[in-house]
Amino acid sequence: MTNFLLSIGGEAVPAAAHFPVIDPATGEPFALAPDASEAQLDLAVTAARNAFAIWRHLDAPARTAAMVTFADAIRAQAEPLAELLTREQGKPLSVARREVAFAADRIAGMAALDIGGGYLREGPLGPVRLDYVPMGVVGVIAPWNAPLILAMQMVAQALAAGNAVVVKPSPFTPLSTLRLGELAARTLPPGLVNTLSGGNDLGQWMTNHPGIDKIAFVGSTATGKKVMAAASASLKRVSLELGGNDAAIVLDDIDVTEIAPRLFASAFINSGQICMAVKRVLVQAPIAGALADALAAEAQKARVGGGFEPDVEYGPVQNRPQFDKVLAIIEDARAQGGTILTGGHALNRPGYFIAPTIVTGLREGSRLVDEEQFGPVLPILSFDSDEEAVTRANATRFGLGASVWSGNRARAEALAKRLEAGTVWINGHGGAAPDLPFGGFKESGIGRGMGLAGLRSYAEIRVMHGVGG
Ligand code: NAD
Repeated sequence: MTNFLLSIGGEAVPAAAHFPVIDPATGEPFALAPDASEAQLDLAVTAARNAFAIWRHLDAPARTAAMVTFADAIRAQAEPLAELLTREQGKPLSVARREVAFAADRIAGMAALDIGGGYLREGPLGPVRLDYVPMGVVGVIAPWNAPLILAMQMVAQALAAGNAVVVKPSPFTPLSTLRLGELAARTLPPGLVNTLSGGNDLGQWMTNHPGIDKIAFVGSTATGKKVMAAASASLKRVSLELGGNDAAIVLDDIDVTEIAPRLFASAFINSGQICMAVKRVLVQAPIAGALADALAAEAQKARVGGGFEPDVEYGPVQNRPQFDKVLAIIEDARAQGGTILTGGHALNRPGYFIAPTIVTGLREGSRLVDEEQFGPVLPILSFDSDEEAVTRANATRFGLGASVWSGNRARAEALAKRLEAGTVWINGHGGAAPDLPFGGFKESGIGRGMGLAGLRSYAEIRVMHGVGG
């Protein structure tokens, strides 16, 4: 597969160099992606700036109509897009289909939001009004775990607020995003969405580029800090949606059998490679053994395999460095005295498969508890009092999501309100929607994506005195 092209100014453009894309279910390269040059980034930024000059003046209904056409074009290509996503990302085809559908929904959903603004009050010079003014060119940098949905939710917010974009997918999963770039080029004004694949250096060129006004970034906390440091040189605006180490607090008044399958799915979804997956379970001592056994039983039942195999629920880890990291974290858990209830090893087959792994007996201070594992391994930690549960859930530099599971809603709510996380669920964990702001406290990010808060973060605020209407 070599027919992947960059999209610049509405044209499909080849690159001088290419890099291999690996199928994580085999560990073998299956396609070549174009490696955009710095000069091609310049062309893309210029094309975006030209498109912005027109797009910014379109009224909201015209923008909405164009975005809905783009979303419909994605839906019309759903099956080939899902197959390509499974091939490059590894996720089961059924899950890839959902991701494609959600990506289209994000575009239509953001297009439907009204950014607001208008008359505020009377002032000494007459009426005072507030407008949300587009910023210009937004550089969108996406990760490999849910490439389409994450890239498209940033693109959707940027466009809905009146900006043009240059999109860079992860070098591990560039292909389905390049295909979306082609669809954008066919359905939206030329240059409004430019799609360039390349390595991490392309991301750095974007963060340093004087023609880019804002960087919208989803990825790891370590890279997010580099993006923010680079952006500070020109005070480029940034939205950073970063890593998490979500705790699920399970209280002793819950029905373990009822929650175990749901809790397991919330942790192992996308083989644990989801920012808002449950990454630590804190369970009250009287039911800790029963819950750990129930989760281990779920892990043993889980159908792990290649994304195209029938009935597969969980695919491989997406790439070799992440596979090595997750196995190293499991080794550290063993070395720290953790008990591996089930799993704890790679599967004996090609590709980056790791058996779903449940670990007990660890404390804070081990990598599996303190770091974001981002893979199919889950620590079960036991606590005594509600107070201890909140303290330990919050004792992390991350603050993306958290949940409380309890048969007593008042007790659950009291704990939930004390959790330092951008999203808190009761008796569930995970999920996002275009109308709900999503993001993190602390080192899980800066700003919020989606919802009105997200949309408005792609605009400057201009207050005008003496202007009515
Ligand atoms: P990553 O940080 O390694 O890479 C993300 C993107 O940044 C890639 O496109 C990469 O090429 C680019 N990049 C790398 N170095 C760069 C630099 N110096 N300047 C600019 N761009 C650079 O992240 P990843 O491993 O692809 O993704 C996994 C991480 O993403 C996890 O930590 C996960 O929690 C996080 N994530 C967060 C959310 C959220 O909404 N908060 C959602 C999904 C994933």
